Amino acid sequence: MLEFSRVLRDWYSVQKRDLPWRNTDDPYKIWLSEIILQQTRVDQGIAYYFKFIDKYPTVLALANADEMEVLNLWQGLGYYSRARNLHASAKFIASKLNGEFPQNHQEILQLKGVGSYTAAAIASFAYGEKIAVVDGNVYRVLSRIFGIESPIDSTNGKKQFAELAQELISDEQPGIHNQAVMEFGALQCVPQNPDCEQCVFNSKCFAFEKKTIKTLPVKSKKIAVKKRFFHYLIFKWENKIILQKRSSNDIWAHLYEFPLIETSESNKPLIFADYKMKEPRFSSEIVKHILSHQHLFVQFHVFDCKPQKTEQNWLEIELDEFENYPIPRVIDRFLPQLFS
Ligand code: SF4
Repeated sequence: MLEFSRVLRDWYSVQKRDLPWRNTDDPYKIWLSEIILQQTRVDQGIAYYFKFIDKYPTVLALANADEMEVLNLWQGLGYYSRARNLHASAKFIASKLNGEFPQNHQEILQLKGVGSYTAAAIASFAYGEKIAVVDGNVYRVLSRIFGIESPIDSTNGKKQFAELAQELISDEQPGIHNQAVMEFGALQCVPQNPDCEQCVFNSKCFAFEKKTIKTLPVKSKKIAVKKRFFHYLIFKWENKIILQKRSSNDIWAHLYEFPLIETSESNKPLIFADYKMKEPRFSSEIVKHILSHQHLFVQFHVFDCKPQKTEQNWLEIELDEFENYPIPRVIDRFLPQLFS
């Protein structure tokens, strides 16, 4: 067991990527990087990390920021609840913890949007706490090397992996150990076709010996995916446009969007007469936008006129103010067509 950590850390010292958040023990910066990386690739996340550190160098600077400004800076990363949670937690630290970042795994768990994995990463990287991270990379690495076939989405499986991960972690360098196992999953023991011939564990790896790489780790449930059909109505006239703010109990909470008609049954073209509206000047292709539990089919309809009637939550804004409003990525991607 001790050997596992040593081999892993030796591999890491040679193979690790030079990432900006690895050169700091500031828990605020580590927290920020971990939240950015929750659903974002490293190469995309780096630019956002620098943007945030530049604009909000401390947790208090983030706490004092305006929510709309934070969401705007996050634009393009998706899963905006991460940005809202970051902001809410920064305010919590400022107001309830005297501006002091919480100092151990248990306390870090108080922060919104921080689960056991993220808390373990921050506590071990920033404070050297001996607490093992367990995420998708860790499940994959441990299930393959040690031949664990318990489903990673079962209560027993989770417990078994957490206990093994905690048994394996280094006493002297828990932070480096955690970084190493995550990096090993990201670079070497990748989901598809890992290069096992070049792997430092190949002489001891259960999955390599038994040829079960494709079946490990085991998952018992399939995630149910919901299909939704969005029709955005873009009213554009005299340099003006209509936006609305999304509610807090759905995807993209608090972001802005064009007036929306959502249908749930199919992606058949919308019959505008049913809504007492004229035909649009232009309707875009249907764009498929994939979120973790939802597949959205999005179509934009452009009207060169003011709407006949307006809804209470509609906001009439000048086109040049548009960039101040945080919007979902699927809308952002459509804008070149709208403004061309
Ligand atoms: S030998 Fe292959 S499956 Fe086993 S740990 Fe290495 S990369 Fe992963």
